[in-house]
Amino acid sequence: MDLVIRNASLPDGRRSIDIAIEGGRIAAVGPALPVQGAQEIDAAGDLVTPPFVDAHFHMDATLSYGLPRVNASGTLLEGIALWGELKPQLTQDALVERALQYCDWAVARGLLAIRSHVDICDPRLLAVEALLDVKRQVAPYLDLQLVAFPQDGILRSPGAFDNLKRAIAMGVDVVGGIPHFERTMADGAESVRLLCEFACERGLMVDMHCDESDDPLSRHIETLAFHSQRLGMQGRVTGSHLTSMHSMDNYYVSKLLPLIREAGVAAIANPLINITLQARHDTYPKRRGMTRVPEMLAAGIPVAFGHDCVMDPWYSLGSGDMLEVAHMGLHVAQMTGQQAMHECFLAVTETPARILGLDGYGIAPGCHADLLILDCGSTVEALRLRAARRLVLRRGKIVSESPRAGARLQLPGRPETVNFRLAR
Ligand SMILES: [Zn+2]
Repeated sequence: MDLVIRNASLPDGRRSIDIAIEGGRIAAVGPALPVQGAQEIDAAGDLVTPPFVDAHFHMDATLSYGLPRVNASGTLLEGIALWGELKPQLTQDALVERALQYCDWAVARGLLAIRSHVDICDPRLLAVEALLDVKRQVAPYLDLQLVAFPQDGILRSPGAFDNLKRAIAMGVDVVGGIPHFERTMADGAESVRLLCEFACERGLMVDMHCDESDDPLSRHIETLAFHSQRLGMQGRVTGSHLTSMHSMDNYYVSKLLPLIREAGVAAIANPLINITLQARHDTYPKRRGMTRVPEMLAAGIPVAFGHDCVMDPWYSLGSGDMLEVAHMGLHVAQMTGQQAMHECFLAVTETPARILGLDGYGIAPGCHADLLILDCGSTVEALRLRAARRLVLRRGKIVSESPRAGARLQLPGRPETVNFRLAR
């Protein structure tokens, strides 16, 4: 074997497990494997997990914070206007450089697969060319999947549908949309129909920004589920954000959840962004704005958490840390039970891997040897500590290392060090 990781704890709760790796893939998983590795790593009971996956991001805008100015109101709509001011000033070199820098951060955080939306409303398709270039450059260490995203509306923005078709022809993977930003509810519904039919014809996946609004009557998710069902696209369609569901009438939601489930539509909440952008028009009480995550999970709908934004016109913080994202999702959704917290970990690992259709993801023989060793003993402890990524492996090779967390104390009669872990 090229490499054997000894004494790992796994996300499913198994302990004292060895993982044997050969040729960049996992060859065997089990207790006390009777094999020798050219290299051996003692995980010492630490959690070994497949990498983090971000199902919703905007890599064309990332790390542009303050260009050309900051978002004063903090709203989604000022963010979109600000992005509109920045677009004419973008250069391909600057886009590529910022995206590559973000991918460095992502790798250091154990985030090895990202679905990024890319704005196609600029007819030059500068950002599309830049991110396709980035996708090729990072491919050895990070899977970048691109969504053709009509930020200004596929019907509202002149030429947007043609631009979207060109972007797909250039190699963009997924069809995006933004029905709540079209001029009318009717145009929003029409945009969903057009985009789903286009994706169905081409055999592509769909991931729309859908109902990113506090308006309880923004019901484009119903239309998205309808067309997914009608066109037989189960398992290939995702609704991102779905924040209006937070504010919807409960009776209506009791009808809507089974429709989404039947249509095989997945959901992506973006906790950091939803909790900061939504309900900006509220006084008190102030809504949280994130979609109904535990209710969707209970209805059998796959739900992932996305990062959405890092230092861009919509959000001034972030560093590519999906544990921070899941930690916020857990709090906003009040998912505090043991199983619920574990599900928050799955929402930044296994679930988005399925939504993206990643091949060879997981800890089982035959899977890619893409693995993290985290400075913690369980998925819940990973969330509590936002655990350090001791080692990040891609195809069985170490691509990033971080020290364990801890501090040296100088207190009379107390231990010399702390690491914030409870020995049990
Ligand atoms: Zn987004």
